[in-house]
Amino acid sequence: MPATNERKKVIVVGAGPAGLSAANLLADAGHQVTVLEANGNRTGGRVKTFRGVFTDPALYAEAGAMRLSSVHPMALALADKLGVRRRPFYSSDVLANTRTPPTPPVYYRARTGEEWSNGPKQQYVPPPAAGRGLIRVNGITVTRGEYAANPGLVHAGFGCDLATPSNALLDTALHKAEVLQSKSIERQVEGWAELLATYENDSLRGYLMDQGWPKERIEAVGTLENVTARLRHSVIFPLIDHTLIPADATYWELAGGMASLTDAMAARLGPAILLGKRMTQLEQTEHGVRIWTTGETGDEGSDGQPTGPAESFDADYAVVAIPLTAARFCTFDPPLSYDKRRAIIELHHDAATKVLLEFKSRFWEVGPAGFRGGRCVTDAPNRCLYFPSHVEDSGGGVVLAAYTFADDAMRWDSLTDGERVHFALAGMRELFGERVDSEFAGVGITQSWVRARYALGEAAMPTPGQLHDHHIATRSVEGRVHFAGDHTSLNTAWIEGALESGVRAAVEVHRR
Ligand code: FAD
Repeated sequence: MPATNERKKVIVVGAGPAGLSAANLLADAGHQVTVLEANGNRTGGRVKTFRGVFTDPALYAEAGAMRLSSVHPMALALADKLGVRRRPFYSSDVLANTRTPPTPPVYYRARTGEEWSNGPKQQYVPPPAAGRGLIRVNGITVTRGEYAANPGLVHAGFGCDLATPSNALLDTALHKAEVLQSKSIERQVEGWAELLATYENDSLRGYLMDQGWPKERIEAVGTLENVTARLRHSVIFPLIDHTLIPADATYWELAGGMASLTDAMAARLGPAILLGKRMTQLEQTEHGVRIWTTGETGDEGSDGQPTGPAESFDADYAVVAIPLTAARFCTFDPPLSYDKRRAIIELHHDAATKVLLEFKSRFWEVGPAGFRGGRCVTDAPNRCLYFPSHVEDSGGGVVLAAYTFADDAMRWDSLTDGERVHFALAGMRELFGERVDSEFAGVGITQSWVRARYALGEAAMPTPGQLHDHHIATRSVEGRVHFAGDHTSLNTAWIEGALESGVRAAVEVHRR
């Protein structure tokens, strides 16, 4: 944004990627910015890296976001610009001795045909998948390679006789290549509008049934692709993701953890960020906004007793960059518009829960069956397990031993932290045997996003019809108050969507 002639006083509420990007842009353009963040000890929101909690201080692990996609150029280029080192995130396991290929610059081709890159164009060839990660469903265990060679073996357990792997089946059903084919941006917009209008009221399950999928195939693919718990949600986001993210997309993690990105964004703002200030009320007149906060010292997992006095902050404009679930517990005077209130009240937000276990050695990398990175799938409560793509300066490693969404996650949410660790180990034992117990370093950390007081959910995940009913209202301007957050973008549940929304809100305020 060009520097401003008219310096505005702006309060940004929320220091997740959306609020931090809006605040950085506004400050760079010369506005006087203050960021109010509820969390008493960190910025980043749902970008959260557990550090200093494992027995080996070199180890860390992701509580929330863990990877950036090659089709998310803003997030990748921002990491590069801020000097945060990117490394490949192996969604499919590779051989344990795989050398890390050099990181290519970010390349982006806009839908209008314009190209952008932050370095000389380079072809990136990801290391080949080893196919050694495990699948355990209906009592049988196979490697991914064995499954790819003979999918029928696994599908038979579901009463389904298809010989195509589950990821290819789901991709074929959800990839709407036709909306991307036209060279004209107008035709592409029309294509998307038609797609949204056609399928807006369908759940993922309803859509797959309309494609002729029998129940057995839905159960097999749902289990193997970890989408069973999301079958009742709107099909629109799976359609958007599968159409925009090609099957050969690559993924990236950040050295030091994903919070390195939000830490670097926060560092640029320095004392403009006030931690432990939770917005409880927003008042506005035609002349300005006033935001009331409570003082908090803990993080989103603490018991929630305000520890400081109520304070107020005045500004010309506000950017509210907190999840709608958090806005539900704030009051607005005058009240927000009817449509915004309905969006806050109704829009479904999903659950996601992680259980992370520390191991003394990376035993899964050793021996003829050894592999690095990638994931295992099981129909045990763990559902999906991710293994570290890179570990530096440690012989040990942290496994994301249970990664669950929606109803699958809520089962874990009902357990105590200790029980979560116990059952995550039990699921891993089914896959790797008794050595899991002797290798366990004794530290298991869990994160439930529904129980996190400042997130109150994983992300907005509309049920059928909700995108049409509520999406526009999530981003509409209310007087002097602008709204950002991944939920206001169609790239919801991605950092890219949060950054896009921060840019939009900053431009809106700058132009007033
Ligand atoms: P948030 O990150 O939620 O930030 C909002 C901020 O507002 C928080 O700091 C919060 O403390 C603060 N706040 C809340 N209420 C108040 C209040 N009343 N007053 C003041 N401050 C308040 N994205 C990816 O790109 N890749 C991934 O691999 C990925 N995986 C994910 C896995 C999980 C389990 C989760 C939960 C998310 C994942 N995401 C991923 C999504 C990504 O984390 C979000 O899209 C992103 O963090 C949204 O940014 P935001 O700024 O909109 O919201």
